[in-house]
Amino acid sequence: MGDQKVITEVPAALKRLAKYVVRGFYEVEHSLALDLLIRYPCVKEDDLLALLKFEKKQLRAILTSLKLDKIIKSRMRVETGEDGKATRHNYYYINYKLLVDVIKYKLDQVRKKIETDERDSTTRASFKCPVCGSLYSDLEVNHLFDPASGEFHCTYCSAEVEEDASALPKRDARTLLARFNEQIEPIYLLLRETEDVVLPCELLEPEPTEIPELMPRYIKRPFLNNMSVLIHIHTHPHRCNIICQQFIFTLAYILWTIQ
Ligand SMILES: [Zn+2]
Repeated sequence: MGDQKVITEVPAALKRLAKYVVRGFYEVEHSLALDLLIRYPCVKEDDLLALLKFEKKQLRAILTSLKLDKIIKSRMRVETGEDGKATRHNYYYINYKLLVDVIKYKLDQVRKKIETDERDSTTRASFKCPVCGSLYSDLEVNHLFDPASGEFHCTYCSAEVEEDASALPKRDARTLLARFNEQIEPIYLLLRETEDVVLPCELLEPEPTEIPELMPRYIKRPFLNNMSVLIHIHTHPHRCNIICQQFIFTLAYILWTIQ
């Protein structure tokens, strides 16, 4: 415990894990949205929209599905706009502890499903007698084998049994499990690598992030406002006082965003 490092940034392995999972199990649009949340810890929905350039409805659907699957979390904030009006804004972020738990849980569910299928397939009838209709499982097959003819015969009526085609696909369960393990190996390695990582609260529930790519937009907007303020002063001189206050506020805002 004593020599445990203080973590100030989400480890690269956890970020890679998030990328792997979203690429493996979701569509490319989901990956693009999650990539932004991997890069910027907590992003406003409007900013995601500006960066991804998706349709508003499409983005909402993507975020909702990721949220339902507990890949991301959201937080609502009431903010006062430049016009003094309070508006609600959704922020999205990845809680990596929740993400790891969800991945472990889901992989476990898939593994259990494959194992159940595998167990079922060994007890399920896979041979059928075309004459008397008797059914035989894989485990009983050695009783049916006739070394003299090299064929499988019904133990009741001695007719040659046929493979039951409906049971065939399930008999691949063993190879399916092997394939699943093989494909999921990189995820297991990353899970193992990050097993002992304990993230501090500020990384699990991050504060909203300023997006550098969107900064020019923020600077431009108050600038445009200033232009309209100047026009306003000319047309409504009696309101000049209030407008001057707004002007100073906007200037302060510009300086603050440039920093
Ligand atoms: Zn038979």
